[in-house]
Amino acid sequence: MKKDDPLSKSNQERSSLEYDTQMISRVISVIIPCHNEEKNIIKSLHALNNILDNIPHITWKVLLIDDGSSDKTVEIATSLQEQDNRLKIIEFSRNFGKEAAMTAGLDEATGDAAIIIDADLQDDPSLIPQMVKKWEEGTEVVLAKRSDRTTDHVLKRFTASLFYRTHNALSPLKIPENVGDFRLIDRCVIDALKLLPERQRFMKGLFAYVGFKTETLTYKRQARETGESKFTPLSLWNLALEGFTSFSTIPLRIWTYLGTIGAILSIIYGFFVVFHKLLYGNGTQGYTSIFFAILFFGSIQMITVGILGEYIGRIYMETKQRPVYIIRKRH
Ligand code: UDP
Ligand code: MG
Repeated sequence: MKKDDPLSKSNQERSSLEYDTQMISRVISVIIPCHNEEKNIIKSLHALNNILDNIPHITWKVLLIDDGSSDKTVEIATSLQEQDNRLKIIEFSRNFGKEAAMTAGLDEATGDAAIIIDADLQDDPSLIPQMVKKWEEGTEVVLAKRSDRTTDHVLKRFTASLFYRTHNALSPLKIPENVGDFRLIDRCVIDALKLLPERQRFMKGLFAYVGFKTETLTYKRQARETGESKFTPLSLWNLALEGFTSFSTIPLRIWTYLGTIGAILSIIYGFFVVFHKLLYGNGTQGYTSIFFAILFFGSIQMITVGILGEYIGRIYMETKQRPVYIIRKRH
């Protein structure tokens, strides 16, 4: 076919048009969980707008999940929505936690991919173009790993690192260290996550569980723009427990082995005591060792009952089949 053949030309035009419409039709839903972020929301949405508008071939929507804010987050968001209808707001009836907010975001996301990003500008939005590029090249999960955690308190860094190490030692499922919830996931990953029926959603674990073709980008995590972290040491501890119990039964099984070792040692000691009595008669010694043994094994039993309780409590909550979140209003 000649170069200036009209048919060839129209074919060329058509194919480039098809290419364009195919690219333009790709929609990204940006999910922002928000709990009392009135001071950050304008700046954060503004930064996102600037970046997303400059990425070619994509259209985008923002899903702001208001997780029971008691400040003006919803009012500010709805006023921003009047200027830009690409913003959708889901208002929870109360605070259900970030894991629930992310779950709602993924349930409501309609795009070909979703990006989960915090409202406080700690997750650097300028990483998004690179994430999208990786996604367009065929990666299904693009993770954002913190190159360093210097903006975190030394105690938070230490406990976070301890959590990742303990979790990955206990569980067959490995969670990548220093990777938060900031990530891009393809539609197929969203659909896979929606298949997981559990109510207690430890999202970092669920993300790792579904798998898919993953690549990691690194970024420097900034300090929080304004306001304070919503995660107290106690809530982080609870999240860590959720992580351990969601993906590992080793905390339950370990006692079987420790108990077996204890029983073997007790039998050996029992023989020793009997022979001692036969050879030397019955002295009145032994008070200290008996006292120690009662306290030690009593404590071990309390710990095992506690660990059983952690799992049984979760089974109990799971059987109630309560919803993960309740929506007051969709704006
Ligand atoms: N967040 C939420 N619900 C909560 C706690 C936090 O939606 O109960 C949101 C919060 O508004 C922010 C993101 O989750 O957009 C991360 O929270 P934060 O910055 O407090 O956590 P950190 O960065 O300290 O881990
Ligand atoms: Mg933060």
